[in-house]
Amino acid sequence: MTESFSTLRVNADRMSAAFIHLASIGATGDGGVSRVTFSEAHLAVRKWFRSEIENSGFEFRVDGAGNHSAFLSCGIKTAPTLLFGSHLDSVPNGGRFDGALGVMSALEVLRSVKESRIKLKLNLEAIDFTDEEGTHLSLFGSSALAGHLSVDDLQNPYSGHKEFFSALTRAGLTEETILHAVRSKKSIAGYLELHIEQGKHLERAGIDIGVVSAIVGYGSYRLSFIGRADHAGSTSMEDRLDAGQGASAFILAVREMVMRDFPNCVANVGKIEFAPGASNIVPARADLLLEFRSPDENQLSKLDTGLMELAHAKADQFGLMLLTEPLGKHKPNLMSADIQQTSQESCNVLGLSSTVLASGAIHDAQSLVDVCPIGMIFVPSVDGASHAPREFTKWEDCVNGANILLQTVLKLAAE
Ligand SMILES: [Zn+2]
Repeated sequence: MTESFSTLRVNADRMSAAFIHLASIGATGDGGVSRVTFSEAHLAVRKWFRSEIENSGFEFRVDGAGNHSAFLSCGIKTAPTLLFGSHLDSVPNGGRFDGALGVMSALEVLRSVKESRIKLKLNLEAIDFTDEEGTHLSLFGSSALAGHLSVDDLQNPYSGHKEFFSALTRAGLTEETILHAVRSKKSIAGYLELHIEQGKHLERAGIDIGVVSAIVGYGSYRLSFIGRADHAGSTSMEDRLDAGQGASAFILAVREMVMRDFPNCVANVGKIEFAPGASNIVPARADLLLEFRSPDENQLSKLDTGLMELAHAKADQFGLMLLTEPLGKHKPNLMSADIQQTSQESCNVLGLSSTVLASGAIHDAQSLVDVCPIGMIFVPSVDGASHAPREFTKWEDCVNGANILLQTVLKLAAE
């Protein structure tokens, strides 16, 4: 059976035409797109995607969270569905590949499979998840489908209650329909997503395809270094309990420690505030926001401990008190080992080089980690750029990624 589909490839010209049209919707004129969830451009792209689905003769589906999909039945009533896709929304002034490549390649895979008339044991569904970028709620559509959203979650959208509900109305959704988007575990056989890497690993290594092993987990804290306010002119340097010095020493030491002891991890201090906050007062307090990520749960916990020890050591060194407030924690989401293997084998068959790597960014795939086996495929991002108009992936790499998606789908779904 393998012979019959291992030679099947996507129609690169058809996918290119669709992708070029897609990139013109919400185009910013400098190579980027702005398709913020439920903006005019986003509603326009959704309408266009629907017409593409219907014009190709697929069943169009929309659920209560506004997830749009093309459905190809295998003809077996009780068969579960293999889902694959990504998102058509973007950040403001984002790139034209993020999410869009995953949805366009998903539709192209569906078209290619339909034309091939290969017999399937699973239904196939190419999906565009609503608001992956979290204009309103992070991973909104995929979380709703996975049953992770509650009425409470809907009360605190990033965009504010008023804007969120007016946006829902524009899209014909309500709080109630969103909660109905949940699907049963047994109805979903797996979820696959092709995405641009949004980092430089593949490009730097000259590798065609990244088989994703995990989406990194993270931890975040508010750290407050507490010292004493003093006259910045008359207090000698050695007499100061300078919270700013302690916090700054910590920030520099974080970089050193992560690069030395945690090579697969990253850490970031994204915000710092000194109080009282004047050039002539020694800072009595420095509040900072720390975030760190790792693809490995054990390592994430070691990193957490290491960072807290470091913060205490720097506070001690400068005679400061330290307050630590955990803000969030999320363990890494692991991709299915079977799907990873399937994608790697497909790379071998197609003569493409591949490597296993973790995703530093979040993706819809992680919403489904406790629902079904998940898998992700990365293609190289030129200069690692993303969430910006200069985001770019060579077309050849996009087609390679689509073919690996196609082969992975077939290996999982063909009889
Ligand atoms: Zn994305």
